[in-house]
Amino acid sequence: MIKFLDLKKINQLHSLEIDEAVRRVVKSGQYILGEENHNFEKLYANFIGTGHTVSCGNGLDAIYLILRAYIELGKLAPGDEVIVPANTYIATVNAVIQAGLIPVLVEPDALTLQVSSEEIRKSITEKTIAVLIVHLYGRCAFSQEIADICALNNLLLIEDNAQAHGCKFGAARTGSLGNAAAHSFYPGKNLGALGDGGAITTNDSELARTIRALANYGSSKKYIFDYIGRNSRLDEMQAAILSAKLKHLDAENSRRVEIANIYYRGITNPAVTLPTRAPEGQNVYHLFPVLTTERDKLQKYLEKNGVQTLIHYPVPPHKQKAMPQCQSLSLPVTEYIHNSELSLPVSPVLTNEEVEYVVTLINNWRPEY
Ligand SMILES: *Cc1c(COP(=O)(O)O)cnc(C)c1O
Repeated sequence: MIKFLDLKKINQLHSLEIDEAVRRVVKSGQYILGEENHNFEKLYANFIGTGHTVSCGNGLDAIYLILRAYIELGKLAPGDEVIVPANTYIATVNAVIQAGLIPVLVEPDALTLQVSSEEIRKSITEKTIAVLIVHLYGRCAFSQEIADICALNNLLLIEDNAQAHGCKFGAARTGSLGNAAAHSFYPGKNLGALGDGGAITTNDSELARTIRALANYGSSKKYIFDYIGRNSRLDEMQAAILSAKLKHLDAENSRRVEIANIYYRGITNPAVTLPTRAPEGQNVYHLFPVLTTERDKLQKYLEKNGVQTLIHYPVPPHKQKAMPQCQSLSLPVTEYIHNSELSLPVSPVLTNEEVEYVVTLINNWRPEY
């Protein structure tokens, strides 16, 4: 069986360093808000290329904390509109709603699967205060047009970088391209902890300070509370493990790119559409999505032949029971993607032979069978 994502195998590669990190934390006697967090925040800020990293409990909280901090700083107010791609993981939209803001869902481009700058432009109203882009599937969603639209309309640009750690736009990394960015270290992400984890990156010192307080009960000083905050902290254990794994991230992402290249060179079945390729460096292939009208048939066929695939995602946010206010929206491109997307295995521990085998299977597939 070719597993979609063999986390055990991925972490086994770093088992000595992970064991060392765990032992170090156990011995330290400090398990929350200590040296390991401090160290990881420095390493990660340096890696992403921002002045600050603030670690937190998970990716959902990271997005929420950015929005809440802007509210506390008076740059956003409850009821303001935030433009969000309609095709994203539910967390992006959840965070906006939980912060008391209104998500405005916009259609992606059908060829790149990334939010369309034209659709962003068309969705701006006098209540729009921020644009939240998502580097979905590991592909950079930022463009100069989006930056220009935000600058022209005086909008905050926030990145959801949960799926794209290490991705680039020119010489810069995603996570450094807007006013602030949210990151998730959920175990299955390109940079994954052995539990939950998240972070915010930004160059804005005041924002970083506010987020740091909000993530720790609103406390800026021990037992002094400035805000009604949350408890959203990264364990010392996870911080130590992430510091060890960060060293290998670029190499693992390069392996993902090699695997994607095999798919792009090899897959020729006209019934299966690949997204257009991103410019050099602008995709770290958290996932490798393909599109076909017979998605469920292709998934069953691959499964029967020993290849595990997943769907990202079967139901778009606006069609979820949790979001009754969006049910009436018509978002045909988003719905088309959700009805036809299938993610092929692209994890860095696959061998070339395994990837070639997936290519051969797909090329031999006929949707009418
Ligand atoms: C995983 C993910 C999140 C949320 O991260 P958690 O750590 O699971 O809370 C947010 N946005 C996107 C696009 C994600 O893929």
